[in-house]
Amino acid sequence: MNDINLFIDGFRRFQENYFGENKELFTKLKQGQKPSTLVIACSDSRVDPAILTNCEPGQMFVVRNVGNLVPPYETGAGLHGVSTALEFGVRSLEVEHIIVLGHRQCTGIRVLMEDGTPESKGEFIGNWVNIAKRAKERVLADFSAASADARIAACEEQSILVSLENLMTFPWLRERVEQGKLTLHGWLFDLKHGKLVAYNPEQGAFESLT
Ligand SMILES: [Zn+2]
Repeated sequence: MNDINLFIDGFRRFQENYFGENKELFTKLKQGQKPSTLVIACSDSRVDPAILTNCEPGQMFVVRNVGNLVPPYETGAGLHGVSTALEFGVRSLEVEHIIVLGHRQCTGIRVLMEDGTPESKGEFIGNWVNIAKRAKERVLADFSAASADARIAACEEQSILVSLENLMTFPWLRERVEQGKLTLHGWLFDLKHGKLVAYNPEQGAFESLT
């Protein structure tokens, strides 16, 4: 059986089991959504935030892109997919939390750390991951003697911090953080060990969440 048929079969099971058994939830969701949390995750097929957190439909407003990156606030020409999702999530849905959910073995971060011009990395990905070039610069300065793998791992962490910093460049988002209405979180999923760590700003380090 190919994957498409597996997906259709999976949906059939969802329809019969999950949808069928959670009538109250779906009756509520028909009226609209009021998720508490916006998640910015990587497009990587191995790190689905809803599966990782075992959450229900309606709880998470999710943005996924290569490298779980947040561009800085810019209102110029261009199609601002992430910024649109932030605007909707923060200003309309009024989420109370934003989680930047990174992960180990991230191809986007590896591309960022590899040498080469954007052109050598495909039409789009080089420019896109350059959003986190500040993370790369910090890693190259602080881990000059480290192995390539160690640098990539460090950049996976630093790029989450850059996304958190870039979130704060959105004026209406910053305002809500300063008013205590919105909290930002930097999480990192280690898929090799099945572990989740979070950035602790007081310690300046990622610590286990579980
Ligand atoms: Zn990734």
